Amino acid sequence: MSQKNNLLGLTCKELQDYLISLDEKPYRGLQIFEWIHNRGVIDFDSMTNLGKDLIGKLNLNSVIKVPEVVNVSTSSEGTKKFLLKLDNDSFIEMVKIPEKKRQTLCISSQAGCALQCTFCATGYHGFKRNLTSAEIISQLWLANYYEDNSERISNVVFMGMGEPLMNTENVLKTIQIMQDQKCYSLSKRRITLSTSGIVPEIEAITGKTDVSLAISLHASNDDLRNKIVPINKKYPIKDLLASSKRYLNSLNSKSHITIEYILINDVNDSIEDASNLVNLLSDLKCKINLIPFNPFPESDYERSTDEKVKAFKDYLIEHNFIATVRVTRGDEIDGACGQLVGKLINPIGSKKLKNKQIAAQNLH
Ligand code: SAH
Ligand code: SF4
Repeated sequence: MSQKNNLLGLTCKELQDYLISLDEKPYRGLQIFEWIHNRGVIDFDSMTNLGKDLIGKLNLNSVIKVPEVVNVSTSSEGTKKFLLKLDNDSFIEMVKIPEKKRQTLCISSQAGCALQCTFCATGYHGFKRNLTSAEIISQLWLANYYEDNSERISNVVFMGMGEPLMNTENVLKTIQIMQDQKCYSLSKRRITLSTSGIVPEIEAITGKTDVSLAISLHASNDDLRNKIVPINKKYPIKDLLASSKRYLNSLNSKSHITIEYILINDVNDSIEDASNLVNLLSDLKCKINLIPFNPFPESDYERSTDEKVKAFKDYLIEHNFIATVRVTRGDEIDGACGQLVGKLINPIGSKKLKNKQIAAQNLH
């Protein structure tokens, strides 16, 4: 990271305070915030209402810096995967998914992930570091302003690389910028934070933010979840669902929790699993999003067949749940859920291979 303060990651209030610290009026902070996040301008010299002296001072003390776009791959249906290079040679990916009525951006909160879910390419490749708030909000900035004719992003999902609740402070700060009415103005329903279940952090954000919460459950009992989502050993299902319920209660009554459930062939996709899931979620207001497993080269898992996916979904619907199957977008460019690794990273350390072999033994 540059020694200079990167203004991109500051909330409007923090930017105003920063300007005060430079002996300037706070409204200058507001002007800069709007230049950056409302007009897409990150060059101080182009901020025409600031005046030469202030621009000189800013150039001396601070930077506005976004990661370098190293590569953009576009799939046939228009999904775009961006490979971004951070300072210190880490790489992250973000995915832009155009749909009829919305433009969704799937963003990363960490370079890599330490949690090593056995079905996830990101976890498989290990953890590099947390992203700064500037690096997280940069992804939204780039998605909106990198290409001239870009349609503005309407929805953000924290479903790229990393576990957002292992980087809570920076994630919350960026959510504040995303929701700011002076710029992106994304409503709480249009931002989804997906977590594998860091219970104390779910408690910590309760009452502090109101975005939609998605829980990556993937198993209906602790034995299986311990194996495929290892963080479950620390925070078992019962505690996870209790904290999710408390989060939900802090929102308005129309809200629900999204339960994400990957369907992996012969691992968690039987009707018995569906029946256990029904019992487990009977008193949680939720919608269940089924995600057919997206393969990646180092994994032995297989996607459940279409018939099994349908049977699983139908069972949930018959038992009065709202259940949908996530349409896989971007898999031909390795941009689908769980396929993001930051392609230029050297893959597979021997430790990872060992862990993965252990995981595979446990499951088959
Ligand atoms: N760490 C957070 C957010 C990033 S992962 C979490 O785990 O929720 C985003 C979503 O992609 C999660 O639901 C995750 O379980 C899912 N995912 C990971 N690997 C996948 C794969 N190979 N196929 C399908 N979905 C996957
Ligand atoms: Fe990390 Fe989420 Fe992948 Fe698990 S699924 S390894 S928590 S990014």
